Amino acid sequence: MIKLVNVCKTYKKKDIETKALDNVSLEFQNKGFYFILGESGSGKTTLLNVMGGLDKIDSGSIIVNDVNIKDYSSYKIDEYKNTNIGFIFQNYNLIDHLTILENIILPTKIEKVIQKDIKAKAYDLLKRLNLEKEAHKFPKEVSGGQLQRAAIARALITDAKVILADEPTGALDSKNSKIIMDILKDISKERLVVMVTHNEKLAHEYADKVITLKDGAVIKEESSNEIKKDIEKEDKKKFKFISFLTAIKLSFRNMGSKIFRTLLTILATSVGIVSTCLVLMVSNSMANYTEYAQKQALGAYPITISSTLLPTDEAEESKEYKEYPSDNIIHITNDYRSYYEHVNVFDEEYLNYVRALDTNLYSVIDYGTALNMHILSKMKEKYEYLSLSSYIRCLNDDITYVKDEYELLYGDHYPSSYTEVALVVDKNNCIDAYVLDYLGIDYKDIEEYTFEDICKKEFKVVENNSYYKYNEEYDRYYYNSSLEDIYNTSSITIKVSCVLRVKKSATTKLYSSGLLYTSALQDMVHENCLNSDIVKAQVEYGLDKNVFTGLPYADQVSDFTTITKEYLLESNLKTLGYYYNTSYIRIYTDKFEYRNEINNYLKSYNIDKDATRQVIYRDYMGTITEEFERFIKILTNVLIIFSTISLIVSSIMIALLMYISVVEREKEIGILRTLGYSRINVGTIFLTEAAFIGFTSGVIGVIIARVAIKPILRFVSGVVTDLYSADYDITQLTNVDINIVQLTLLVLGAIAVATLAALIPAIIASLKEPVKAIRHQGE
Ligand code: ADP
Ligand code: MG
Repeated sequence: MIKLVNVCKTYKKKDIETKALDNVSLEFQNKGFYFILGESGSGKTTLLNVMGGLDKIDSGSIIVNDVNIKDYSSYKIDEYKNTNIGFIFQNYNLIDHLTILENIILPTKIEKVIQKDIKAKAYDLLKRLNLEKEAHKFPKEVSGGQLQRAAIARALITDAKVILADEPTGALDSKNSKIIMDILKDISKERLVVMVTHNEKLAHEYADKVITLKDGAVIKEESSNEIKKDIEKEDKKKFKFISFLTAIKLSFRNMGSKIFRTLLTILATSVGIVSTCLVLMVSNSMANYTEYAQKQALGAYPITISSTLLPTDEAEESKEYKEYPSDNIIHITNDYRSYYEHVNVFDEEYLNYVRALDTNLYSVIDYGTALNMHILSKMKEKYEYLSLSSYIRCLNDDITYVKDEYELLYGDHYPSSYTEVALVVDKNNCIDAYVLDYLGIDYKDIEEYTFEDICKKEFKVVENNSYYKYNEEYDRYYYNSSLEDIYNTSSITIKVSCVLRVKKSATTKLYSSGLLYTSALQDMVHENCLNSDIVKAQVEYGLDKNVFTGLPYADQVSDFTTITKEYLLESNLKTLGYYYNTSYIRIYTDKFEYRNEINNYLKSYNIDKDATRQVIYRDYMGTITEEFERFIKILTNVLIIFSTISLIVSSIMIALLMYISVVEREKEIGILRTLGYSRINVGTIFLTEAAFIGFTSGVIGVIIARVAIKPILRFVSGVVTDLYSADYDITQLTNVDINIVQLTLLVLGAIAVATLAALIPAIIASLKEPVKAIRHQGE
């Protein structure tokens, strides 16, 4: 039983108020055919809608089975609409892209029922309503009478106890009207049928009870048949959320019915993705290129701190003499203009300061630090000292750097212990004969070495005690001239243990071909030197005696300069391996901005130091690198702006397309809501569709972009090659390392944007009272 008590409903539109229901109190029994009569605008549709839970009332109550539906939660309302009420409209309200059968079973998709039973029930209804042949046709392919019968079948499929029909015959001819009326009459024997009409004749022919409305108020109630009161048996039905499968099916059917439109949407959306993709890829590769260009430029010009500093042009400026004179006179000056301006002292304090530099700022520091070592080679019974030069150097301690730049061609590890020495070959696996000459390796009558053969080569590192011999008679040290004796008494043997070759990707290329020994060897030899007789003697004597001459140290004075005795002692101690000898420090970095930071760091060492202790150098590349740095910053920003714009533009495009698609389907949303679909259910359907469109466009877009990017970059690099002529390596430009992760992110992004864009209008549409969504289209 449905009971309306003092129900009022007023529509407000701007300032005009319309009383659609004015204090309506009515009672409907569980069975019977009720008619609601009234002129157009008298509130009949409104009455039906509030009874069916499609619209809210302002005041009063609607009691269904002793509960006021005004108090229902939105979930309960949806359940009520789905299981209790069957709606029939004048304009049928079937969904165009579903078949008649699919339309009929649509309300059951949100119920926990067995699909097989539903199918059987649907076929029963189709048979009963004479629609069997139309089951698999679409609404556009059948007549109005058949559509209304389908709508009735849809109302009956959930065993709704109440059928609410709003002018169901309004659009039908008299023959079809009669068929529909007979069916409804039939139904009213088991359930409550409330029908709205303004056809009085029809009402009095079929009605058990006629209610007449005028201006929203009940003005007449007349019964033509006795309607028995009946006690209701409540059978609880299980209600559920729409399944993902149903959502997919519904959205696919919609897309399928508008294949052309859907394809266009996908195409337009993929254009957005393609452009985003392309801009991202070009940016990526430009970023690669600038990084590479920086490394190349900086690899060739490290920050170099030399032990000596020549005066700059400005320091040379002379007030006495004119610049670029035209006379033929040569002036002889006495202001030491070609003399070192400053001598840098690389003591432990400074070296530690440099070592403390943030390791993220540089790729490697090359300490031009060498201990004076004597390395002896034996070649076919001939002994020869290796000339210590840039061909024999100490391997950098930063082994990861070495591994990055040099590949191991032979041997099973990079040199690590003091006995191991690496041989470096150039990119063609070549070594010049003069280098081998420096290294004391035989090259006469030999055209090539195998790795195995060269790795048999051994050297001896000579200890001070073998190299220098004490002469008691003259009380001084002299050089041991018996190389064979030295070779045989030296205990430190080093051996070529591996072959290294500079990598193609190497940027700093620190070592040219030659030998690399480990710092372990250097430290070991240093220790050995400190304990040698000659060093101990020299340290003990200090300035009082030169171990080589037996005489005290003295200043060496010439016409132009004085070499102090302290300096002479120090250089002797360097020769003897007491001090390390640092001639330069080179700092290699990958980025211009790091270079500036490093310069600032090094400058701050000099704060609070007196002039002689300061370490001064000039970064000649500074201004050039600053320019280039600014250029790269601008370029990077421009690329970021480009990709952001293209991302925003394509997002907006996707959003607009999805929005239009949803707005177009407001009627469908209204119908689904009328059938009891919740907002979440409706949202899920649109979400699924949008996600599908997003996914498809994303995949297509990414594939197109992948195919198109290579020719585009080839074109760009062609232009760059023309600009920079041959000697610029632009292969980096065509390195598109857009990886699977990024591609997946793009596809996910497309899905997200499309889903969001569709979800928002879908939510807006489903927030509307369903009745409005339907009226919007129907009337
Ligand atoms: P009937 O079905 O009897 O023709 P309705 O119930 O549709 O009448 O409408 C009753 C009154 O309420 C009418 O005056 C109509 O203009 C007004 N009305 C109906 N729906 C709305 C609405 N959404 N906004 C404003 N007025 C409305
Ligand atoms: Mg109406």
